Amino acid sequence: MIITIASGKGGVGKTTTTASLAVALAKLGKKTLVIDGDLSMANLAILFNLDKKKPSLHEVLSGEADIREAIYKHKTGVYVVPTSLSLEGYKKAEIELLPEVLEEVGDEFDYILIDAPAGLNREMTVHLATADKLLLVVTPEMFSIVDASRLKESAESVGTPLLGIVLNRVGRDFGELGKEEIEMLIKGRVLVEVPEDRYVRDAALKKMTVIEYKKNAPASLAYLKLASLISGEP
Ligand code: ADP
Ligand code: MG
Repeated sequence: MIITIASGKGGVGKTTTTASLAVALAKLGKKTLVIDGDLSMANLAILFNLDKKKPSLHEVLSGEADIREAIYKHKTGVYVVPTSLSLEGYKKAEIELLPEVLEEVGDEFDYILIDAPAGLNREMTVHLATADKLLLVVTPEMFSIVDASRLKESAESVGTPLLGIVLNRVGRDFGELGKEEIEMLIKGRVLVEVPEDRYVRDAALKKMTVIEYKKNAPASLAYLKLASLISGEP
């Protein structure tokens, strides 16, 4: 199953969610591939400490490398296709090639998670159409919800249904929207609430996911729960 992890607004926790969910799925024995679909930022590659690896997704999408050459096995057991922080690489990458590239390896993995960029641009359109399901990441504030709701509609218009919503950074602010309000506004189910957790940032500074850094941190427990919900494994 291919899941695109997206949000309308930037900085809400897509990359954090993609990487942490992947590590949690791998712990449940699921063969999981993550794709750094934010081709100009390479944040996911940084969390897995693979941002300098070549070939990366850039070379795959420019036809210079085979997808299999760009899959790296991380020590957590997660397989990662990194992207690099090179403007030149970004320019030559043809995002439209992604569906056929993933088709080549799709049968070998239980889950393929695509970490999408913010907004509704050309890259996002491809990521939405490539996926079987959309996983939305939102923070409990109005603009994040409005943007996410639009994204859900775009996904549905290309035949990609919503898997659910990850409500992230809960407890950071006063006056946050509640889970029920959010479910009503987006017309989707909140699968998990991830609390604001300083261990997430501490882990990122060390180029690690929070689960590797501290497996019983509040955010780690939330991502482990999300992985069980999605995979149906206890
Ligand atoms: P996006 O990929 O949506 O732009 P990131 O995953 O890069 O967002 O997260 C943005 C910032 O917020 C990062 O510095 C990350 O460490 C921090 N962050 C994300 N989720 C949490 C959380 N639950 N608690 C604390 N900090 C978080
Ligand atoms: Mg990101």
